[in-house]
Amino acid sequence: MKQTRVIAVANQKGGVGKTTTVVNLAAALARMRKTVLVIDLDPQANATSGLGLRPTPGTSLYSALTGQAFIGDIIQGTPLENVNIIPSELDLSGAELEIARQENHLLVVRELLKPVLTADVFDYILIDCPPSLGILMTSSLAAANGVVVAMQCEYYAMEGLKVITDVVQRLHDNGVNPDIHVEGILMTMYDGRTNLSEDVVREVRKHFGKLVYKTVIPRNIRISEAPSFGQPVVVYDPSSKGAQAYVALAREFAARAARS
Ligand code: ADP
Ligand code: MG
Repeated sequence: MKQTRVIAVANQKGGVGKTTTVVNLAAALARMRKTVLVIDLDPQANATSGLGLRPTPGTSLYSALTGQAFIGDIIQGTPLENVNIIPSELDLSGAELEIARQENHLLVVRELLKPVLTADVFDYILIDCPPSLGILMTSSLAAANGVVVAMQCEYYAMEGLKVITDVVQRLHDNGVNPDIHVEGILMTMYDGRTNLSEDVVREVRKHFGKLVYKTVIPRNIRISEAPSFGQPVVVYDPSSKGAQAYVALAREFAARAARS
């Protein structure tokens, strides 16, 4: 029996490595024989195309939100064994309004996922959150067991981190999701040639200690090339520094998730 864990990868800022992390963590976990469902909740559909699918109207979570489709019917396979997806497409940009219209809107995503959790076929559900503090993100957090915060190694990253940890704390404290916690903080786009990257990592570790993953994702050209081939970097160039970092992250992530 599996115990599906729902992990949201979030940060209200765009361009910090959320989608890259979802796509590569999914691919690397799948290679460890874990079964993974990726839910692409960004209307820009970068996780969808990054996993080799073309965004197609009527295939996203939006159709389940509006009751046009059953959640089980919108789960698709991907070119990668053990990686499944609920893709995104432009319709999903209507999801914020649709959820807001519904009663108990914070619980809408959790309710939708219930049959998937009951079926217990996935080890992990990884949610790629949109880059905003909207209803789609908060209701994803309300449905998650844990949150991985992706953070670029740059100035002001800490301030953004406080915003999201506050949201997590609020969802926890007001009883919407007593289970929710920050599963881990992932430092991305580390540039070993600058002191800045090193300073930011040191600063974040000072404040958040062990919550910060040991694995740091380097800035790596192969990572940025891979999406145009519709592949995670761990498939596109497994020997690259970027791929190796995501493989290491998957091990660390799985070990930590097993303990919490
Ligand atoms: P988000 O989902 O937070 O908006 P993305 O994962 O889409 O961020 O990353 C933003 C851009 O940066 C993308 O073009 C991606 O390919 C690139 N990128 C992400 N991580 C790295 C990295 N470690 N090294 C180089 N480029 C990266
Ligand atoms: Mg993204």
